[in-house]
Amino acid sequence: MNTIYLDNNATTKTDEEVVKAMMPYLLDNYGNPSSIYKLGRENRKVVEESREKIAEILNCKPDEIYFTSGGSESDNTAIRGIAYSYKNKGNHIITSKIEHPAVLETCKQLEKEGFEVSYISVGENGIINLEELKNAIKPTSTLITIMFANNEIGTIQPIEEIGKIAKEHNIIFHTDSVQAIGSVEIDVEKLNIDSLSLSAHKFYGPKGIGVLYVKKGIKFNKFINGGHQEKNKRAGTENVAGIVGLSKAMELAYRDLEEHNKKIKELRDYYVSQVKEKIPYIKINGDMEKRLPGNSNISFRFIEGESLLLNLDLKGICASSGSACTSGSLDPSHVLLAIGLPHEIAHGSLRISIGKYNTKEEIDYVVESLVEIVGRLREMSPLWEKFIEEENK
Ligand SMILES: *Cc1c(COP(=O)(O)O)cnc(C)c1O
Repeated sequence: MNTIYLDNNATTKTDEEVVKAMMPYLLDNYGNPSSIYKLGRENRKVVEESREKIAEILNCKPDEIYFTSGGSESDNTAIRGIAYSYKNKGNHIITSKIEHPAVLETCKQLEKEGFEVSYISVGENGIINLEELKNAIKPTSTLITIMFANNEIGTIQPIEEIGKIAKEHNIIFHTDSVQAIGSVEIDVEKLNIDSLSLSAHKFYGPKGIGVLYVKKGIKFNKFINGGHQEKNKRAGTENVAGIVGLSKAMELAYRDLEEHNKKIKELRDYYVSQVKEKIPYIKINGDMEKRLPGNSNISFRFIEGESLLLNLDLKGICASSGSACTSGSLDPSHVLLAIGLPHEIAHGSLRISIGKYNTKEEIDYVVESLVEIVGRLREMSPLWEKFIEEENK
């Protein structure tokens, strides 16, 4: 049985072109970029060329790019590093209720360390309210950290406006752009972004390599002590092959952006319309316009997301659910609760995230499988039975 991979918001298949670009730096060109002989110098050169390529795509300067191990490290470094660097000015941070755990848990930790954090809510559509953001600002606010696009419901925040508000109040604006990079054009200058996180494995690059962009002039404490790599901000021998892979993946993503987005969005819209047509009692979560092209999040009433996933897995389909049972907790997703879903509906949700390798045939197979699985699981549900009896009265 073939695997049908529809969990591209969790990670993506590494592009073969990316792997090809990385191979020489694993096999032949394995020098340490800090060494002075030729084998080292060649590695230094490719690291700096990669940095330039990434800076050009983001419209920033190469020395504003710091390589990290991924999105989580970039978020931690930016938020902690900036919060502590500006502690003399104030101890207040503003974020949203739907952030990735890399941001939320960092903020919670900072609260324990004496910082004050405001968590902005989102509407039913999964978008923050700018008035609420403005009202949360205090004289002690030093940092706003709000994600570009959400990893569960795909909603895209009004980043340019948030950046503008931050600028007007002389507050630093960091955005977790891990989901947005590779799907959305990002010009940090135009969007007023001071600091940004990205991770290669979310756009067909390798795992374990990411970038933190921090605008020149903004201070942030370093996170890893040791050697002088990354302008003395992030010690450790550079992940040269990873860096090459990241910049290659980014180059490919933006070279083919329109073409891929068009194809992916068409497949996503087709999937959603098919589910709507063939399965009753569902709820589509998150704004359908201000949204990543490949993301869909649908709640199936009277169904447990976990059972749905297990049954899909038996058919070779990889997807994700809105409850966090797999991670050892029975709590429904904080994102789905934040958009106002009751627990039982949040529990029955399914995230299908489409990528550049998916086909219409795969979507047809998934819809067909869902019709069968949802039907079967509902037949077994006492709640469904009761609901149908009530309906037929
Ligand atoms: C995946 C993800 C992260 C974490 O990135 P890693 O590279 O896996 O550490 C952070 N934020 C968002 C929005 C993500 O989707």
